[in-house]
Amino acid sequence: TVISVDLTNAPYDIHVRAGLMAQAPEYLLPYARDNRLLVVTDENVARAVWPALEAALSAAGVETAVYILPAGEAGKSWGELEKLTDWMLAQHVERSDHVIALGGGVVGDITGFATHIVKRGCSFVQIPTTLLAQVDSSVGGKTAINSAAGKNLVGAFHQPALVLIDPELLSTLPPRQLAAGFAEVVKYGLIDDPDFFLYCEDNLDSFFAGDPAIRAQAIITSVQSKARIVAADETERTGTRALLNLGHTFGHALEADTGFSDRLFHGEAVAAGMALAFRYSVRLGLCADEDARRVSQLLKRAGLPTTLSDAGVTANGALLVDYMRHDKKMSGGTLPFLLARGIGQTFLSKDVALDDVADFLDDEAQS
Ligand code: NAD
Ligand code: ZN
Repeated sequence: TVISVDLTNAPYDIHVRAGLMAQAPEYLLPYARDNRLLVVTDENVARAVWPALEAALSAAGVETAVYILPAGEAGKSWGELEKLTDWMLAQHVERSDHVIALGGGVVGDITGFATHIVKRGCSFVQIPTTLLAQVDSSVGGKTAINSAAGKNLVGAFHQPALVLIDPELLSTLPPRQLAAGFAEVVKYGLIDDPDFFLYCEDNLDSFFAGDPAIRAQAIITSVQSKARIVAADETERTGTRALLNLGHTFGHALEADTGFSDRLFHGEAVAAGMALAFRYSVRLGLCADEDARRVSQLLKRAGLPTTLSDAGVTANGALLVDYMRHDKKMSGGTLPFLLARGIGQTFLSKDVALDDVADFLDDEAQS
């Protein structure tokens, strides 16, 4: 399946197919210069995924030079950006070159940003290897690194030239990472696609058992959703793109309270955040209790947290709301709060009273 991301300046294709990596050399050959490619990856992916790809490329006569980042968020620092750009320059990267980003969101984000600034902009190709990167971070062109002030605060919009998604690469991903990525899959159903939510309910067990057709379909639908939303609001000006933040305002507070650490992965925080957003919508009389229950049930079946206590969060409502106030997505004194009238009926509310959110979170902590 090929999904075209329909952007004004830089349209590009996303290919999704189980087993796609076997054809990777054919796809990548046009992007090599003198039969040579620069590849950026991380320690874990270098072990789990790179050897097979390297062998295939080498059999096809493509020589590679590989740069290995430390795994995890530490790979997205200023220091790593400096070393990575130095390496690219030492490899004599040219503006017409395409650097391959092979890995999760960390590798994609820093490689996208590094290629944006090196030589005032060269190109990159994404081969996402986590579920989160396949359904979320590889689509939309946001690239960034972390700085002392917080995550993703230094970056740029830079669209890849091509994205290759092979669901089979998920076979070596740790189960907790797979579940965390699944939260973002469910998110697309909750935003505006009730049929897809139903699909997730019906096929959750096969998805986690590794059924290649189910995995591919779930990824394709997610990528199509994100591509559609991003194309409607490429640089985040009209508000359409804000829908992608469902569960993320609550989630951000939970991540802040757990120190943005491995105690709570981003996708886990989003899962609990979506469950909270639905229960808060019920409390406001917007949404039926039954819908909120279905959301929590599905996330629970995936092994994801749906309550403050599941998420290991002990802060009171006032402190959690304080974290939300400091979220970078806040502008002009209002929080963009995504609420729901039901499954697949999410909307942006601009008049949420933060005191009331704090009371709600205190009640949540009691229950
Ligand atoms: P990650 O890149 O840190 O990968 C998670 C872990 O899985 C790492 O330890 C990695 O080494 C390992 N791994 C990756 N692929 C593997 C494989 N196939 N087999 C075995 N191990 C594998 O984390 P992530 O969840 O992919 O991405 C998170 C990052 O993405 C965050 O920095 C976040 O800010 C960013 N992000 C960006 C966007 C965007 O639009 N640009 C959107 C969402 C998230
Ligand atoms: Zn997210």
